[in-house]
Amino acid sequence: MILTDLDLLSDSVSQNICMNNCHKCEDNCPVGTIENGVVNQKLCRNHAYRKTKRGFDTTDCNICRTICPMRYGDKTEQ
Ligand code: SF4
Ligand code: SF4
Repeated sequence: MILTDLDLLSDSVSQNICMNNCHKCEDNCPVGTIENGVVNQKLCRNHAYRKTKRGFDTTDCNICRTICPMRYGDKTEQ
């Protein structure tokens, strides 16, 4: 954390780059955590993150990200 009294300029507000009428992440989440664009974080974490038998953290679900057609960003503006 950095505390300052400098008058800094902020970035522009981030833009939604979801495709029109796309519901792929909602439709493919195995535990239905995404609804109307809102993620139930607790439900997601309980399903997606686990530990191996040796105690290492592991991610067992990443479907919503891998299935997203915009996962590499908006290529139309490059
Ligand atoms: S990581 Fe898995 S459980 Fe979490 S929102 Fe994505 S698809 Fe659903
Ligand atoms: S799959 Fe990607 S583009 Fe489609 S609604 Fe979900 S986040 Fe948006």
